[in-house]
Amino acid sequence: MTDSETTNTVSNTPPSNADTKPLSPDDAMTHFLNGMQLTALDERTVERVAALTALSIGCSSVIILKYKQDDATFEFVGIHPPRSRKPEIYVQTFNAEAGTLTAEVAKGKIISFEEKPTDPRLQSLISVMMTDYGVLVPLRDHTGNLLAMLALYNNDNSPLAEGAEKRADTLLAALSITIDNAFEQARKDTAIKKVEEAAEILSKIDEELNDTIELNYVFTMMKDWALRFTNADAVVLAMYDSANTVVRVMSHYGFKMGTLSRGEELTPVKSGIALRVARTGRAEIVPDVSLDKDYFALAEGMRTQMTVPITREDKVIGMLMLWSRQLDGFTDENLDFVKRLASRAGVAVDNARLFSETEREREKLSNILRNVGDNVIVIGLDHRIQMINSSTLLAFHLSTDETYVEKLLTDAITHTALQKAYQRAVADEDDTYTTELTLPNERTYHVSIEFHEGIGRIIVMQDITHFKETERLKTELIATVSHDLKQPLSVMRGYLDLLNMVNEFDEKSNKYVDNLNFAFKSMRQLIDDLLDTAKIEAGLQLELETVNILDILNFAVRSNQQQADSKDTTLSMNVPDSLPPLNGDPKRLKQIFNNLVSNAVKYTQPEGTVTVRIELKQNSMRIFVEDNGMGIGPEDQSQIFERFYRVRRPETDSIEGTGLGLAIVKSLVEAHEGDIDLKSTLGEGSTFRVTLPLQ
Ligand code: ADP
Repeated sequence: MTDSETTNTVSNTPPSNADTKPLSPDDAMTHFLNGMQLTALDERTVERVAALTALSIGCSSVIILKYKQDDATFEFVGIHPPRSRKPEIYVQTFNAEAGTLTAEVAKGKIISFEEKPTDPRLQSLISVMMTDYGVLVPLRDHTGNLLAMLALYNNDNSPLAEGAEKRADTLLAALSITIDNAFEQARKDTAIKKVEEAAEILSKIDEELNDTIELNYVFTMMKDWALRFTNADAVVLAMYDSANTVVRVMSHYGFKMGTLSRGEELTPVKSGIALRVARTGRAEIVPDVSLDKDYFALAEGMRTQMTVPITREDKVIGMLMLWSRQLDGFTDENLDFVKRLASRAGVAVDNARLFSETEREREKLSNILRNVGDNVIVIGLDHRIQMINSSTLLAFHLSTDETYVEKLLTDAITHTALQKAYQRAVADEDDTYTTELTLPNERTYHVSIEFHEGIGRIIVMQDITHFKETERLKTELIATVSHDLKQPLSVMRGYLDLLNMVNEFDEKSNKYVDNLNFAFKSMRQLIDDLLDTAKIEAGLQLELETVNILDILNFAVRSNQQQADSKDTTLSMNVPDSLPPLNGDPKRLKQIFNNLVSNAVKYTQPEGTVTVRIELKQNSMRIFVEDNGMGIGPEDQSQIFERFYRVRRPETDSIEGTGLGLAIVKSLVEAHEGDIDLKSTLGEGSTFRVTLPLQ
C-alpha cells in the first residue's frame, strides 16, 4: 500500500513514521471508524489496521500476527510501515513452558517489555522489531476468542508513549467487531474458494478417470487427490472382499518403508475401523483415535482417522482411509470431498476391474487357442486373419517368427485346397462347411469352417491321420475277406443250380431251395457292397465327363418306380427346365441317386410321397431327395453315414439292408468334391441334400 492510498480511505492526513504525534483516543477512533470498511482480511486491509493502530496509539510501528487456532500459533499477516519484502515471522505459543510471553498473550494479557525478551519462540518476531521496548496486545472478537496479536513499538528503539498500553486496549475493544467481521468474511471467502476448488478438482478427476481403465492408475490418482485436498499425513486405498471379509491395500502413502505393502491383506485387527465402515457402509471421522477401541496404528503418531467406503451398487468394494497427525484433523469439507471422490472411485474401480478381468480372460483364451493341438485360424469378415495358432503354422510349414495377423488368408496361406474350401464356405449360405484336407505336413485333417456373427469364420482342423489309417486297414481287411468269400460263394451257387437241375423237389423242398437262393442273393449283395466300399476307400478313380444331371435323376426315378407303385408311393421330380452341365462319373452319380431314391421309397410307409428337386447356387448345385416317411431320430442322424449302421426300430426291422448304402453314397459324393447332409424328423420324413460343385 502506498501513502496516497491510505489518504483516500482515511479522512485526516495519515501519520508518517517515527515523528507521528499521538492523537487522542477519541480522534483515533473517529479516524478509524471513518476509514474502516473491512470486508476481507486482505493485505491492504491489514496494513490499514496496522497504520491506524500505530496512529491512534502513538507509536511508529505495528506488526499484526494472526492467531491460528488449529495449531495455536501466530502467523505474520501485516506490518506498518509496509516493507518491500514480507518478513518471515512465525510465533508458537506452545504450552510446555508455561508463562511464556506468547502464551500469556494467547490467554488475553497485554504485555509490555522494556528489554528484549529472551523467549526463543519470539525470536523471529523480535528480530524484525529490533527493539528493547514494545507492547504485545491480543485482539479478540466480540465473544472473546483470540483473533490476532499486535506488536507495537517505535522503530527508533525509543520507549513507547505514556499510556500506550491503555489506549491500545480501548481501541482494540472497539476494533474487535470490525476485525471479527473481516475475519468472518475472509473465512467465508476461503470456504467458497475451497468449494469451488473442490468442484474443479472433481471435474478434473472425472476427466482423468474417464480417460483411464488402468486399475493401478485409478488407485494412485485417488490416493493423490485425497492427499492433496485434505492435507492428510497418510492414506491407504484398499479393496474390500466382502465374501472373505478381507481388506487389501492397493495404494498407500505416508508409511515407513516396509511397514505396509501393496497387495497386502490386512488382518482383522489391523483393518479395525475399516471393517466397521465396510459393515455399516457409513463414512466416519474419528477425531481422536486414542478413544476408539477398533483403532490400529498402521503408522505412528496419527491422531485422527477418516474412513470413507467405496461402494458399487450399494455394496462396499473398498475404502479410502486417511490419517492426520493433528487431533480432530479433518473438517466436514474434507469428509465431503473424500466422499465425492469415493463415489467416483466406485465406478472407476469397477470399470477398471471389469476391464482387466476381461483382458485377463481374453489373454487366457487366446493363450489356450494358441496352444491347442488342433489348427485354428480366425478370419474376419474382411477375409483377413485375426488369429492363427502355432499348430497351423507348423502344419502349413509357415514361419513362426512372422506375423500373419491382418493378412488376407489367400496371401498368407497359398494352399490351394484350403483356399478352395474357404471359398466354398464363403459362397455357401450355411453356417458350417466341413471337408477333409491333407496338409503340407502330410497329415490328414477334418476341417470345419464355421461362420460366427460379428466375428467372421473360424477354421478348426483336427488331425485324423490315425483314424484314417485304422479305417484304411479295416477296409483292406474287409476287401480281402469279401474277395476270398466270393470264391466259395460262387461254388455254392453252382451246386445249388446243379441240385435244382438234377432233382425233382416236392413243394416243401422247393421252398427250402428258394430260401437258400434268397440268402445267397443277400450274401452276394453284401459282398458286392463291401467290395465297392473297399474300392472307393482305396482311392476311387472316377471316370469324369460332362453329364446332364437330369438323365441321372430320371434313371434313379425310373429304377425305383416299380417299387414305389407297389406301395402306392408318389415318386416325382421337381426340377428347372435347363440346368448347367456337371462334371462327374455318370455310373457313380447314378449309384448315388439310385441309392437315395431307393432308401426314400424303402423307408416311407405306403401311400407316401418321394420328391427329387434341385436348387442352383452360384458355384454349386443342390439335389434334394425328400420323403414323408418314417424319418430318423437325432441320435441316429450322426451315425447314419457310417458303415454297417442301421436304425434299430420296430418299423425298420422287417426292411432288408446291409447298412452300407449311405456310407458308399457319402464316399462317392466326396469323391466328386461334394458333400451330403441330412435333415430329418422322426415320424415326419427325411431330406437328403447332395451339394455338387459346378465347373
Ligand atoms: P440300408 O442298407 O440299411 O438301407 P443305408 O446305409 O442305405 O443302409 O441306410 C442306413 C440306415 O439309414 C437305414 O437302415 C435306415 O434305417 C436309415 N435310412 C436311410 N434312408 C432313410 C430314409 N429316407 N428314411 C428313413 N430312414 C432312412
